[in-house]
Amino acid sequence: MDLFEHQAKELFARYGVAVPRGRVAWSPEEAEEVAAELGTTVVVKAQVQVGGRGKAGGIQLARDPAEARRQAERIIGMDIKGHVVRRVLVEEASEITAEYYVSILHDRAGKGFLAMASSQGGVEIEEVAAATPEAIVRVAINPLVGLRPYHVNQLVFGAGFDGRARKGAAEILARLYDVLLGADCTLVEVNPLVLTADGQVKALDAKVSLDDSSLFRHPDLEALRDTFAVDPQEQAAKERGLNYVKLDGWVGIIGNGAGLVMSTLDVVAQAGGKAANFLDVGGGASAETMAAGLEVILSDPKVRSVLVNIFGGITRGDLVAQGVLEALDRLGDRVRVPLVVRLDGTNALQGRELLAKSPSEKVVTAATMLEAAAKAVELAGAPGAAGTIGKEGA
Ligand code: GDP
Ligand code: MN
Repeated sequence: MDLFEHQAKELFARYGVAVPRGRVAWSPEEAEEVAAELGTTVVVKAQVQVGGRGKAGGIQLARDPAEARRQAERIIGMDIKGHVVRRVLVEEASEITAEYYVSILHDRAGKGFLAMASSQGGVEIEEVAAATPEAIVRVAINPLVGLRPYHVNQLVFGAGFDGRARKGAAEILARLYDVLLGADCTLVEVNPLVLTADGQVKALDAKVSLDDSSLFRHPDLEALRDTFAVDPQEQAAKERGLNYVKLDGWVGIIGNGAGLVMSTLDVVAQAGGKAANFLDVGGGASAETMAAGLEVILSDPKVRSVLVNIFGGITRGDLVAQGVLEALDRLGDRVRVPLVVRLDGTNALQGRELLAKSPSEKVVTAATMLEAAAKAVELAGAPGAAGTIGKEGA
């Protein structure tokens, strides 16, 4: 689970990591209030879980509360790389002298933690890694030893931090390590860590990934999850206990088994389409789950066709077909787009026969995955989709 910047900064503050004063605002009015409380020039920052907000116009300076309100009006509702902004962070603006990068993360290959620092902060670290890998200092941390002052020195001196920034940066690195351990994070990242004109060092941006398997130890952090379900389909899927991830295409996908669903996404792409979602209904795939899954997918207005891809193992094809038919029955008019069903494996033949008897003209069957994907893409009416793949089957 990734935290939003404002949540990550609240967590940082609890552990004594220096961050600018500020607060989240859910409306332009609230942004104005926060700016008035802070009583200084502020930055209004779009809260979305994607980098490059600055470049996208999602970070703006505001000299007074009225301007903060206007900037929040512009930013809330903005679409940044497919993420709609619902809230902004309003915080005191900093006068930046230097921008650095620091992070500590789980290093699975190294069987420990990895701390990194660079004096080329403020830009995407992947770009730095690609162009000038030597500009990133990496220090492996043995969890049994912990982050020691000599590690910290290697980082701040190795990365060539300004003399005025070293003490503050060292303090922040030590506190970030406390955050990593204390909140069971898999990653804490600050980009940029800044040195301000008046000599302060603080975390201007904050990224935190929590270890989902440890959330039970942190009920306070688990509670933050509630504020995440802003997407109506993801909210609906969560309520129905479905394993659903929304994507930005137009072909809805249902399959049984995560591996099968993943390869379904691939064949849809191969057929010239783009998946609208990932949805794994798991082993059972009862009529209940089928209906719930279809309901969630069909409520996404972007969906122009649905591909149901089931491979019967323990799951019997005839039962799945029954599930699909019952779901169609239950959803009635809400089934507004074609449904391409590919059934294979145990009792697939019986299943297909059942589906063939369906009175719904929305149901189309297919024998192979590629055929099903091609049909789903074609029926969705995607540009240049029809007949883009051969009849070789899969
Ligand atoms: P990101 O682009 O999504 O990673 O958002 P960041 O929080 O990292 O901000 C991007 C850039 O905006 C920073 O690298 C800064 O250059 C600039 N920025 C953010 N906050 C401030 C601020 O308080 N003052 C100034 N002068 N620049 C800021
Ligand atoms: Mn950043």
